[in-house]
Amino acid sequence: MRRKLAAGNWKMNGLTDSLDELRSLARAHPDPAVDILVCPPATLISQAAQVCAGLPVAIGGQDCHTERTGAHTGDLSAEMLKDSGACAVILGHSERREDHGETSDMVRAKARAAHAAGLMAVICLGESLAQRDAANTLDIIAAQMSLSIPDTSTAENLVIAYEPIWAIGTGKLPDAAQIGEVHDFIRTRLERRFGPGAGRGMRILYGGSVKPNNADQVFRVPNVDGALVGGASLRAEDFSPIIKALSQTG
Ligand code: PEP
Repeated sequence: MRRKLAAGNWKMNGLTDSLDELRSLARAHPDPAVDILVCPPATLISQAAQVCAGLPVAIGGQDCHTERTGAHTGDLSAEMLKDSGACAVILGHSERREDHGETSDMVRAKARAAHAAGLMAVICLGESLAQRDAANTLDIIAAQMSLSIPDTSTAENLVIAYEPIWAIGTGKLPDAAQIGEVHDFIRTRLERRFGPGAGRGMRILYGGSVKPNNADQVFRVPNVDGALVGGASLRAEDFSPIIKALSQTG
């Protein structure tokens, strides 16, 4: 029912020659059984969208402003991302929540702006190690969900990425039970809020140190509909086996 999604977050990495990685990725997956999304830095969105035109690799942004236009130096609106060729945008990544003081209220407003512009919002949620150690993980996820997800969400325009902060870029992978507990919890709350139809159709990605050598164990966990991949999405030779592993799971 839910088409799986392999999403790459290039963060602040990538120059023009990195577009070759997109060409290689598309060549390796001419007819993928899963959706593929790559979110390069904003400077590359337009060129990346041109490179991937007609290919099964969609392009997304990594953040957007809450407003459509205005006096916001250095910011980009959802409409601008769309105009550049993006079809999606990552919102509320823990690096933006930490480095830029983004609150869940801001993430919700950005997601609403993304939806208004016709973009799919990939909303990131996740607990810190201290919160996990204090057994607060599900309370944190519940609060982030209530505040970060707008009422404009549908199965088509919302993807949740569960990204434990302590797993991002650290090589530490939660075990299957830890991933499964949070994904099941998110699914239940989505169904309760949006109804069984939409709630069951919304995709929930896992993110945090997904690599070619551990992807299949992550994808075997129920309610994991794919991955948001950072470091291992930068090179096609690393991202490609992750996409293959996802394609091979039920
Ligand atoms: C991320 O930052 O979204 C992420 C999942 O990073 P990494 O895969 O490098 O841990």
